[in-house]
Amino acid sequence: MTLNDFSPRMNNIFFQEYYPLQSLTTFNIGGAARYFVEIHSVAELLNVTEIAEIWQSNLFILGGGSNVLVSDRGFDGLVVKMNLRGIAIGEEDAASVLLHVAAGECWDAVVAQAVSAGWWGIENLSHIPGSAGALPIQNVGAYGQEASDAIEYVEVYERNTRQIIRLNRQMCEFAYRASLFNSTMKDQYMILSIGLRLKKQGIPNLRYPDLQAIFNDHTSHPSLQEIRDAVIAIRSRKLPDPEQLGNAGSFFKNLSLSDREYEELYRRIQSKFGGNVLSKLEQFKRTFSGPAGIKLPTAFLLDMCGLKGLRIGNVALSEKNPLVVVNLTGNATAHEVMTFARTVRHAVYAATGVAIVPEPNLIGFSPEELKHYFGLTKP
Ligand code: NAP
Repeated sequence: MTLNDFSPRMNNIFFQEYYPLQSLTTFNIGGAARYFVEIHSVAELLNVTEIAEIWQSNLFILGGGSNVLVSDRGFDGLVVKMNLRGIAIGEEDAASVLLHVAAGECWDAVVAQAVSAGWWGIENLSHIPGSAGALPIQNVGAYGQEASDAIEYVEVYERNTRQIIRLNRQMCEFAYRASLFNSTMKDQYMILSIGLRLKKQGIPNLRYPDLQAIFNDHTSHPSLQEIRDAVIAIRSRKLPDPEQLGNAGSFFKNLSLSDREYEELYRRIQSKFGGNVLSKLEQFKRTFSGPAGIKLPTAFLLDMCGLKGLRIGNVALSEKNPLVVVNLTGNATAHEVMTFARTVRHAVYAATGVAIVPEPNLIGFSPEELKHYFGLTKP
């Protein structure tokens, strides 16, 4: 008996079996899904979820595949490719407009549409790969704008009550690269749509050095389109294109250190690295301290440890950005990527005492495998 035996009762939804996931991820790596289905409506999603519950199947929702690494064995359960589409204008007044966006919409197309309509609030989030539904999960941010600045609500299917509910911004518990959806309620909600509150008049947010470097000699305010073009140019320069070189964006999260962790790191750097590195560290503390701690770019640690450009077999740290692990030859396996990440983590931990954390969703790995790849022994 297979999942398809349920489908006559469930509006003839057809589950593909042993469906290859590799080309559905920007890493272009990984095995097959035991079952796979693409859904185009909320009704289909509810049917599919019900079948998965009866069958007690593991379930994974796949959006744009831009932040996942699938294991070589694949996923022993049901993968649901979220293809809900539609963008609609909701309430509108003189100052703002509410945009209702289905989870399966391509995020960058949403930004392009907002920019050409003259609506402010998401322009710095241009060119981020993936679907709109992925945005609230890790409260995606770039160049001083965060998803939570614009999101007014998130509509979800709550799996245990089997209800569709609308969570307002406060209920989403947004924090730095975090929300309810990747913490306390992880896997409990399926995101169906998001509501974005965009402004008709805006002030350009140009405080990040990369943007300042482009606009510092401009006397007038850049337009929305100029900001979008600048962000796209910066990202194209600093990030490898997944179409050319498989990757899942930043493989390691940036760090947020407590004062104690910072002091510890300071002492280690003082004893092992030169004054130049130390003064850079001090500069980060001066510039990026906030209520959540002292922000430290993980790329700084990787550079400091001499890891930039590291290559092992088919896997490497991108020459453009050391935070990005790339499938250099197109033939990398998930095992190679995880072993590579393990080597990088160990090197950073041994030199600095800081345990860097992977960012992509790791799909189809057993707890033992994760422990093997990401366990650390004290330096
Ligand atoms: P970058 O601009 O070189 O910045 C590196 C780090 O410094 C980031 O942690 C950034 O904080 C921080 N930073 C830089 N200028 C800052 C300022 N004026 N005020 C406060 N913090 C500042 O980073 P990048 O690697 O080229 O990436 C560009 C942008 O894309 C960054 O905003 C980065 O965070 C973002 N990004 C986001 C994700 C994600 O959401 N998952 C993944 C990859 C990159 P922030 O992290 O707070 O921006």
